[in-house]
Amino acid sequence: MSPNMIAPVDQSTILTSHNPATGDVIATHTIHDAAAVRATVETARKAAQTWGALSFAERKKHLLRWVSHLLAHSGELSELIHRENGKPVDDAYLEVVLAVEHIVWAAKQAGKHLSPRSVFPGPLMANFSATVEERPLGVVGVIGPWNYPIYTPTGSIGYALAAGNTVVFKPSEYTTTVGNWYANSFVLANPDLPKGVLTSVNGCGETGAALVDSGVDKIAFTGSTATGKRIMAAAAMSLTPVLLECGGKDAAIVAADADIKAAADAIAFGAMANSGQTCVAVERVYVEKAVRDEFVAEIRKVLATVKPGSGADASYGPMTMPAQVEVVRNHILDALNNGGTAVVGGVDSVRAPFIDPVVLLDTDENSAAVQEETFGPTLTIRTVDSIDEAVALVNASKYGLASTVFSRKHGTDIARRLRAGATSVNSACAFAAISSLPFGGVGQSGFGRIHGEPGLREFTRTHSIAAQRFPIPGMALLSFSRSGTTMKIVKMAIGLMHGHYR
Ligand code: NAD
Repeated sequence: MSPNMIAPVDQSTILTSHNPATGDVIATHTIHDAAAVRATVETARKAAQTWGALSFAERKKHLLRWVSHLLAHSGELSELIHRENGKPVDDAYLEVVLAVEHIVWAAKQAGKHLSPRSVFPGPLMANFSATVEERPLGVVGVIGPWNYPIYTPTGSIGYALAAGNTVVFKPSEYTTTVGNWYANSFVLANPDLPKGVLTSVNGCGETGAALVDSGVDKIAFTGSTATGKRIMAAAAMSLTPVLLECGGKDAAIVAADADIKAAADAIAFGAMANSGQTCVAVERVYVEKAVRDEFVAEIRKVLATVKPGSGADASYGPMTMPAQVEVVRNHILDALNNGGTAVVGGVDSVRAPFIDPVVLLDTDENSAAVQEETFGPTLTIRTVDSIDEAVALVNASKYGLASTVFSRKHGTDIARRLRAGATSVNSACAFAAISSLPFGGVGQSGFGRIHGEPGLREFTRTHSIAAQRFPIPGMALLSFSRSGTTMKIVKMAIGLMHGHYR
């Protein structure tokens, strides 16, 4: 089969996984129907009784064993990611490394952030102890995309497991073999645990929908905004909580005082790596007029040697999902038809399944290339008169996932003005590699946070316990035996405590 003619994913009972660069079949998988998904969730629910009852230290031991297993087999895993997703082996290895970092962080930090903690009960309730406890939810359903088939779901799976939940994982239909390898690796690393702590179910959207409808205690979804909306609507029927990590149209601001060489280097990588198939890829740049020409020249210089392919020397791989190629082509055409000039590549850069880098200058802000997620190796650059104008244009997007700022003196100040879940200052995408930094979006990019302390709390339910330590005679506030004297004392005490704020 020609690389341009990758067969569509089989929608019947068998899912066939292809190498996106060659079209070769990698594996076939049996699709889980609704009954099979429910049975898997039931097994996970039983396992949750054991896994949820373990101490943080015991769960850490199991998670770190998994980490050792992943690292011991990282060569095999990287090769599989390369074949099924298409990215270069070294990029696949880096993805594994980042996933491992997150599992280690979650395993080691869960006890610190989720252990019961005493809080001050207040003077009126001084005879009570007040404790906040974070309990596991039970079974978490994780639905993942194909662009970072290990790193992205790990942001939910590692943290949900560390918080004491079991997980049923539905990998993307385009990276099912990788997803199954990953879930099975947990079992291989921990043969002493009951079946169902981490399991995968296979299939397309129908299997994902069945997981949403299966009675899981939370859905953690990473994928497109359109699917996120469908999942939220379906989950509303059972009030199943959802965490939605959706699409983006991330922008970079290059200020007049930026290190232009460094900005061009980082932005070129942030835009083109993984063939631009990164939720936090830089898709738009706003550059101050004074440094525009220098920046464009540097970007052209950096990209002159950046080429996609499937060999060891490729800068990035093919488009993983065949249908996305037309979206990218249409965005390039739309930009060129709306005042844009191609300063790197052009519409001929699209030679499926590969797309060479494309950079489009001063395209109309209303064009699809600037407004919609392209998810390909393209970049728009717009000249601005001021940082205020750049900030306004960045914030005008319906999306708000991440952002990048290059400025020697004002990077963090500019970052604080951006409507986004994360910003990298004088680098691109750095936040994603720092496990302690929460990750997630606003607006059409979704809500909720993975990674860091909030990423652990996403997978717990807070349980407050107020325990009376001793009764105070005559101060039974929450009783029908309350007397007039009690109320007089309360009024006096409240007046003394809070009456002086005016
Ligand atoms: P997608 O929405 O097509 O699919 C994602 C997953 O949802 C797949 O596993 C799919 O089978 C499943 N699914 C599809 N329909 C469903 C339904 N009705 N119910 C339940 N599950 C269903 O997205 P994709 O093409 O796999 O991934 C690319 C998108 O993911 C891009 O928009 C990208 O920006 C986004 N993404 C976001 C982040 C983030 O952290 N915010 C990270 C990576 C990717």
